[in-house]
Amino acid sequence: LLQLYQPLNWFGTYYRVISQNFIDMEKMLDLFEEGVAVRDAPNAGELLVRKGGGIEFKDVCFSYDPRQPAVKNLTFSIKPGTTVALCGPSGGGKSTVFRLLFRFYDIQSGSICIDGQDIRTVRQQSLRAHIGVVPQDTVLFNSTVMYNIRYGKPSATDEEVIAAAKAAEIHERVLAFPDGYNTKVGERGLRLSGGEKQRIAIARTILKSPSLVLLDEATSALDNTTERLVQDSLTALANSRTTLVIAHRLSTIVDADSILVLKDGAVVEQGTHDELIEKEGTYHSLWMRQLEEETNEDRAESGEPN
Ligand code: ATP
Repeated sequence: LLQLYQPLNWFGTYYRVISQNFIDMEKMLDLFEEGVAVRDAPNAGELLVRKGGGIEFKDVCFSYDPRQPAVKNLTFSIKPGTTVALCGPSGGGKSTVFRLLFRFYDIQSGSICIDGQDIRTVRQQSLRAHIGVVPQDTVLFNSTVMYNIRYGKPSATDEEVIAAAKAAEIHERVLAFPDGYNTKVGERGLRLSGGEKQRIAIARTILKSPSLVLLDEATSALDNTTERLVQDSLTALANSRTTLVIAHRLSTIVDADSILVLKDGAVVEQGTHDELIEKEGTYHSLWMRQLEEETNEDRAESGEPN
């Protein structure tokens, strides 16, 4: 019995270590919902990001379920160092684009390239080392703020952690916590607000310093001051990196270098905010609806009738 128990026990420990490492991405990427089996090619090399991390999706087809394609002949390219917002109706394929770039699934046809290299030809570890993910709802470890930020680069010094926290506009807030950077956070520690958790995740990613950033913006409404702080922190993160944002808030959309509108797994519109507004198509309708919702929320907050 002991012989049987030991491997099981080892597996349990191993599984916990893995699941903890992926805890942040778990929600967004549904890692454990699927029996994902993506393998490195036998001669897979390192991903070399020498041209700033340009992204190219070419005729990408992928479905979770053969009866229903999630993306269909998806084609778009993102210039190195730019910030691109993904928006569009629910189920349009925004999260799927993230999962495919991170290679949590292999596509059925087409290709996905970073700086000209097909991501199926490089080692997954190398691909993921170049990508920073900021999920919508960051799960913090039950440990100190210092530990939670340093997680982005375990070898970082305290000074580097603090510099990242400053860039992410969370340093002052951390100093106001009972034990500063040694304050325990997470489920069993100090409970942080959504905006604070996201800034910790941003600090972590600034420290990791990836070439590409995938950011799933929080949907929840933030107050104006927090919104501004999160925005400044995102600007620091996106600076000189290729950044893809699943955009839920107008501020990000307006500032993006380009906007991709995804609907039914394909790009239906692409351009800057001004270009797409002028077009009066899908983006224009989404924008008008959001403006109306925001106006109603503002009225509700100030007690005015709609
Ligand atoms: P939302 O704005 O609601 O998050 P989205 O634009 O991110 O939506 P995706 O989550 O990428 O859309 O979904 C694209 C399509 O793939 C949808 O039809 C969805 O039902 C399907 N889908 C997404 N995740 C899974 C999954 N794990 N298993 C099966 N189908 C899935």
